[in-house]
Amino acid sequence: MSDTNCATAAPSCPAWSPKPCVLCGRPGAFEALYFPGENSPAAPPPGKGRIILYGLCEYCGTHRRMLMEVIEARIESELRASGAI
Ligand SMILES: [Zn+2]
Repeated sequence: MSDTNCATAAPSCPAWSPKPCVLCGRPGAFEALYFPGENSPAAPPPGKGRIILYGLCEYCGTHRRMLMEVIEARIESELRASGAI
């Protein structure tokens, strides 16, 4: 969650590779962006934006819509653990 340098980079970025699944830790098959809303504990300060890049494995990515709440809770707890929020 600390490597944000390549968050907006194309796959040609040498450091790019799918992040491991945020939910189960399996190798990532998808990457997705999370924009915390103002009601989220990870909400950015007023006037600022926050975009969080995360990985999902094939299974969790396929069920992403169903898992969205769990994914957001996991991202928020990781941010809290890392002291980012
Ligand atoms: Zn997974």
